[in-house]
Amino acid sequence: MKEKLTSIFTAKCPVCLKGDVYIVRNPYDLKHFDEMHEHCECCGHKYEAETGYWYGAMYVSYGLSVAISATAFLLTYFSDLMFNLDINAFVYFGIIVAALLVFIPVTFRTSRLIWMNLFVSYDPQKVKACS
Ligand SMILES: [Zn+2]
Repeated sequence: MKEKLTSIFTAKCPVCLKGDVYIVRNPYDLKHFDEMHEHCECCGHKYEAETGYWYGAMYVSYGLSVAISATAFLLTYFSDLMFNLDINAFVYFGIIVAALLVFIPVTFRTSRLIWMNLFVSYDPQKVKACS
C-alpha cells in the first residue's frame, strides 16, 4: 500500500518506483501535462497495458471530480456560514466549476496513476534489475 501511494503521489512507475510516468513533472505545463512515457525508462514496464486501457481511468477521474466538487461546496458553505456572505446557488455552481477546471491537469494525471496502481504492484525483483 505504501508503494502504491508513493507511486501515485510522486508520479513514478508502479513496478519499480524509479522511472517517471510523465514526461514533464509540472502538471500545470498545459502543453505537455498529458504526455507519458510509453515504457518505464528503468524497468521497462509498459504503462498502457492494452488499447483503451485509459478509459478505465475516467471512472477514477469521475470519483476525484466528485471529491473536488464536494470539497469546494463544503468550503463555500462553511465560509458562507462563518462570514454571513449570503452566497446564492449560481455562485456555488461557479465556484465548483472553477475548482474542477483548475484541477483538470492534476485530476487527469492522478486518475491514470491510481488506475495503473489498481492492476500493477511493486516488484522488488525489478527494482534490483534497474538500479
Ligand atoms: Zn519501472
